[in-house]
Amino acid sequence: MTTTLTSSRYVFDFAEGSMDQKDLLGGKGANLAEMTRLGLPVPPGFTIGTTACRAYLETGDLPGGVAQEITVHLRRLEETMGRRLGDPADPLLISVRSGAKFSMPGMMETILDIGLTDESVHGLVKHSSDKHFAWDSYRRLLQMYARTVLDVPEELLEAAVATEYGEWGVGTPEELPADAIERACTALKQTIADHTGRPFPQDPAEQLDLAVRAVFRSWSTPRAQLYRRQEHIPDDLGTAVNVMAMVFGNRGPDSGTGVAFTRDPASGAPGVYGDYLQDAQGEDVVAGVRNTVPLAQLATIDPTSHAGLVSAMSALEHHYRDLCDIEFTIERGRLWILQTRVGKRTAGAAFRIAVQLVDEAVITLDEALLRVTGAQLGQLMFPRFGERHGVPEIARGVAASPGAAVGVAAFDSVAAKRYAADGWKVVLVRRETNPDDLPGMLAAVGILTTRGGKTSHAAVVARGLGKTCVCGVDSLTVDTEARRAVTAGGIVIEEGDMLSLDGTVGVVCSGEVPVVASPVVEYFEGLLDLSEADDLVRAVDRLLRHADSRRRLGVHANADMPADAERARRFGAEGIGLCRTEHMFLGERRTLVERLVLAEGPIEQQAVLEELLVLQRDDFAEIFRTMDGLPVTVRLIDPPLHEFLPDLTDLSTRAAVGRATDAPDADAERLLPAVQRIHESNPMLGLRGVRLGIVVPGLFAMQTRAIAEAAVIVAEEGKLVHPEIMVPLVAGEAELRLVRQEIEGVLAAVATRTGRAVATRIGAMIEVPRAALGAQRIAHSADFFSFGTNDLTQLTWAFSRDDVEASIFPRYLDAGIFAVSPFESLDVEGVGRLVRIAVAEGRRGNPDLVIGVCGEHGGDPASIAFFADAGLDYVSCSPYRLPIARLEAGRAAVAPTSTENDTR
Ligand code: ADP
Ligand code: MG
Ligand code: MG
Repeated sequence: MTTTLTSSRYVFDFAEGSMDQKDLLGGKGANLAEMTRLGLPVPPGFTIGTTACRAYLETGDLPGGVAQEITVHLRRLEETMGRRLGDPADPLLISVRSGAKFSMPGMMETILDIGLTDESVHGLVKHSSDKHFAWDSYRRLLQMYARTVLDVPEELLEAAVATEYGEWGVGTPEELPADAIERACTALKQTIADHTGRPFPQDPAEQLDLAVRAVFRSWSTPRAQLYRRQEHIPDDLGTAVNVMAMVFGNRGPDSGTGVAFTRDPASGAPGVYGDYLQDAQGEDVVAGVRNTVPLAQLATIDPTSHAGLVSAMSALEHHYRDLCDIEFTIERGRLWILQTRVGKRTAGAAFRIAVQLVDEAVITLDEALLRVTGAQLGQLMFPRFGERHGVPEIARGVAASPGAAVGVAAFDSVAAKRYAADGWKVVLVRRETNPDDLPGMLAAVGILTTRGGKTSHAAVVARGLGKTCVCGVDSLTVDTEARRAVTAGGIVIEEGDMLSLDGTVGVVCSGEVPVVASPVVEYFEGLLDLSEADDLVRAVDRLLRHADSRRRLGVHANADMPADAERARRFGAEGIGLCRTEHMFLGERRTLVERLVLAEGPIEQQAVLEELLVLQRDDFAEIFRTMDGLPVTVRLIDPPLHEFLPDLTDLSTRAAVGRATDAPDADAERLLPAVQRIHESNPMLGLRGVRLGIVVPGLFAMQTRAIAEAAVIVAEEGKLVHPEIMVPLVAGEAELRLVRQEIEGVLAAVATRTGRAVATRIGAMIEVPRAALGAQRIAHSADFFSFGTNDLTQLTWAFSRDDVEASIFPRYLDAGIFAVSPFESLDVEGVGRLVRIAVAEGRRGNPDLVIGVCGEHGGDPASIAFFADAGLDYVSCSPYRLPIARLEAGRAAVAPTSTENDTR
């Protein structure tokens, strides 16, 4: 049974909590508590809850009572361990570890070996009979503490230690002999005193207090903020702090530390997987500084610990019913589990593992659906490398995050961002990465490192961001100063040279490798039979079919051309939710629009409309044929007329030049007055949509006639036609009523003339805030609504997408005003509220109203969950996003509640 932890307290023993308490204990703390309850070998300790962090960040001080609670829990920990913190004779040492609700790898601070002082280090020497170990632990504490708690610059600390390197000919501190490390400690303490004006605190309780505060502060560092914005993690959660008795992996060859996964997080292959590093502590493994061995080798190094680890991993996977990742340490042959969580994984691994767990009877198909996301399916639909056509492979490394990345080499974040700003795709090349490289990783399409394995910082972050990554390419030497890399064979890659990374197999090529379609797309296209497909394609197929069986939301496509409509059918569309007619006026037909605008009198105008009618009728007939049996929603012409005419400035110049050179440009002279007449200073808010239909007589009637006649033609061919006519930019009922009368008149006339009536529904596009607010009345004249969320977003925010996306959005995203562009993911708070109002009002006005959405948001995973919750009947999106929409609609149907459905 889980105890409910009251929020009147701030500090909780590991034995008190459970995995459901991530809000209060953070992910790491909640999972440490869970493992403690399961009886796994977790060093004892306690968690200071996120409530204390929030109070600290607000007031700059720990709330009253926290210090006392910490003391009480520390005393209890000391009793359990039979040692006192920092006891000069035999010190208890502790770690102080950050841990927020959502994992933020490497973003916040952890401080190890707290409790070591000038005195207690001697106690540790005596008690461990290992001088090297004791002084190296003190050295680690001084370095970590100085950097994270006291803000001493890393270079100063490096320099303090490095003075000893030359003499001993070594490159890392732990290779130094004990006496040299002792001297390095003295140098570090001097650096600290010089830099901060105070000596390194020799009171263990003060060390702990300052460390806790530093962890709380690390929640607010710019890099942590950037990470949260990227991952859509709220800024106000705060972090918990875990205080834990230290165990030591750096006590010789019978000790070590490692990271393990219960399944391969890159491919999803079953079987334990991980990296182990002998005689090492803490971040040594993930830092990728020293080379690790595969976990399997631990079976030879220390069979007992290996067996213990494998059984703990199997217990954890059974308990969490999912892939877990684990941090462990072995101290002199004794295994300790220091952390676990449900592990991050690549998109391919997510699908494979979900289906494996169903087959192993661990989870149901409904649960499996919640283990994958539309965004992950989107990643699987990206193209990958095909034939290399002579582009040479220059190196190989660890396939850390799959995909195909082609871009120019950049050797640091600044260069990566600069290339990206110039429109280049970038491959970031580093020896290893750390959190400071995040801006460069964000700017890059691919990441290459020369050190570290699948669990290195570069690998973990790349997988999280869905970017291609090859790491541990140790045959490549990177010279960041000279901005170049050299292969073992002497091939030089300069900054700006083209590189191709295959993150699926771990290959680096110099030059541009051609990219081919993904097998998942080939399968959707019908080019790949399921019987020849691999397990990934089969997993996608199985989960998609299950999503289809569950979802209540229909899935339609936005398609204007027959080829798009055909793809839409293959990809699972149940209709066309948006068929735009604009393209039918472009190209060679443009002159028809010119003539329409220039027409002198209704007779000439009618002649032009007749010509357009013939063309449009053929277009519609073609789409109706393709969509035999399914509805097709045709939107009447929407954009302002000037978009089909020559540009005013161009035209004025042509006319002016003609006059000045005595060679009048007749064409320009003829068009100029008309273009001037319809010129608008704000075309987006001018003569377009339903207004155009009302102001230019005959335009909508002609389109309706083309639709109706095409429907009759195709129906006579024996096909089932379900045309729907959608009126754009409606703001009030009177507009729609007027247009509807005209449309119904034309439909009736066509029916009478042809002797065949094709049932045609008439509806409104809801894309103006006023339409949403007045939806009840509009619904009296509408058979259906379709939200045009692109325009609705523009008009709700009062900005024009074309203008603001480049000029304003980068700053807005940086400043955290937007977590994500409102054109990418629906602004639920504002635009979403209008959607909910319109759904409620619309159904009140017309209980049979069918409601869909045809803006780009119809294919966005987060927005689809919202539309399902808002009670829409269908979403419509581009053909390529249909599988994503089907999956997300299925997930929305089986999710416990739409808000708890959190996959981070
Ligand atoms: P992160 O959240 O960045 O993974 P952790 O709090 O897990 O940071 O700490 C990083 C590493 O420090 C751990 O993986 C572990 O190896 C080491 N560590 C933390 N606490 C202890 C401890 N009590 N004893 C030994 N090693 C520890
Ligand atoms: Mg960790
Ligand atoms: Mg629109």
